[in-house]
Amino acid sequence: MMLPDSIELEVVTPERQVVKETVSEVQLPALAGYLGVLPGHAPLVTELGVGELSYRKGKDTSHATVVRGFAEVLPGRVIVLAEAAERAEEIDLDRARAARERAEKRLANPNASGTDWDRAVFALQRALTRLQVAAKGGGVAAAQQEHHPAP
Ligand code: ATP
Repeated sequence: MMLPDSIELEVVTPERQVVKETVSEVQLPALAGYLGVLPGHAPLVTELGVGELSYRKGKDTSHATVVRGFAEVLPGRVIVLAEAAERAEEIDLDRARAARERAEKRLANPNASGTDWDRAVFALQRALTRLQVAAKGGGVAAAQQEHHPAP
């Protein structure tokens, strides 16, 4: 049997298609930890957490955020269905920083009535993942922006 030498990667959310590319390697944020997928991988379905999805094409590695969902892995194909996903260059840093601040404030005051702890932790996870992905994937400018925020 011929094994495929590439992977058709598709990342979709209820709103849109976020990624559709032919790649040589994919890293998925599975619940149990990061899962590396090469062409010819055995079929599986896995649940995804909140984390970074990376994919390599030749020498270029791209990064995206994934917020909960499922991935189906087939020998020549990876399909990701996520609640939300953004490619690194699409991430709005100011928005992610504001979301991180809101979540941190809620978590700093856990006894405040009305604080939904799990919800605040989940929001913080999304914001931190977005900041991490933006810093990596957006290149030097984004990384510098993240380390030296405008006053
Ligand atoms: P916020 O509090 O800023 O709305 P959130 O974590 O609550 O952030 P989500 O519910 O995870 O946002 O996502 C809602 C939609 O907004 C999704 O389509 C997601 O891709 C998009 N989104 C959220 N944050 C950002 C961001 N910082 N940059 C780009 N798109 C974002």
